[in-house]
Amino acid sequence: MINLIGYSEQKLKQLFADWGVPSYRVNQVFSWVYHRGTKQFNDMTNLSKDLRAQLANHFYIALPRIAHKTQSRDGSIKYLFELENGSQVESVWMPDGARKTLCISSQVGCRLACSFCLTGTLGLKSNLTAGEIIGQYLAVNEDLPEADHATNVVMMGMGEPLDNYDAVCDALRLMVSPEAMRISNRKVTLSTAGLVDRIRQFAQEDIHINLAISLNATEDSTRDAIMPINKRYPIKTLIDCLKKYPLKPTRRITFEYVLLKGINDSDEDAVRLGKLLSTLRCKINLIPFNGFEGSSYEAPSEERVKSFQNHLISKKYSAFIRKSRGTDILGACGQLAAQAMTC
Ligand code: SF4
Repeated sequence: MINLIGYSEQKLKQLFADWGVPSYRVNQVFSWVYHRGTKQFNDMTNLSKDLRAQLANHFYIALPRIAHKTQSRDGSIKYLFELENGSQVESVWMPDGARKTLCISSQVGCRLACSFCLTGTLGLKSNLTAGEIIGQYLAVNEDLPEADHATNVVMMGMGEPLDNYDAVCDALRLMVSPEAMRISNRKVTLSTAGLVDRIRQFAQEDIHINLAISLNATEDSTRDAIMPINKRYPIKTLIDCLKKYPLKPTRRITFEYVLLKGINDSDEDAVRLGKLLSTLRCKINLIPFNGFEGSSYEAPSEERVKSFQNHLISKKYSAFIRKSRGTDILGACGQLAAQAMTC
């Protein structure tokens, strides 16, 4: 039996063609599953009884189970999900006025081992399926009142999305499909540590969501030390690849820059960053480091962060200091590690 959540539109159309069922039936099924949250094929009353039975013989419909919820003082909620194989991952829901952003995970753990990231300390345990990726969004929306449903999705939770390429692409297609989840592709962002070959491949896909790059350093020696992936794809290789990325006219690449005291937060770093990105249409998110137990890094002072930002603004960049959300519940950027696993 296969979980229908996450099963691609293309595959379902092919299956229906094999069954002699017209392809518009896929839209009806998706409407039940993704818009009405139906879990039983028998409730899909505009399908014939035979088709309902056939579907029930092949598929089931299930979302990841919410194992735990932790509410932050700032209103954010961290969800701990239990997956079918017993693994756990986290998502963080962050309200900001009308905008509700959900940060979702793509892997259990991560093999890239960035030294400022708690997830990276776990190593890679397993990849999520497409259904488990979109299931986080669907389950959170089921859990919250309609007014609080996620409006934006960021793939910045546990894992490197481009290291789980096929499942992530299937999940993204379902997210932005007008037949399935109908999220605007402007409201979906994939964040990568810079797997250059995969970025090139992703540029060729028919998926036009936002791209964010977790950069975090301006010199290879520093980036090698905090992001081992840089040894394989050094900064110049990454930037050259991004220069060729087929950005839509009104879009910008987002650069995420975690500021680590004494490591990458100097005025010289800010100057180098300004030069490095000068030929790219981009914006920069500065993220003062979010601490976790066992980490020796510290966040820079507010003045240092401001000075770093001011230099970038003086060079005409859109540079934002990202409010850390959910730091008290280890829900902020780089702090996700499916905590309840070890409790
Ligand atoms: S920052 Fe992202 S890519 Fe790096 S270890 Fe953490 S989850 Fe993996």
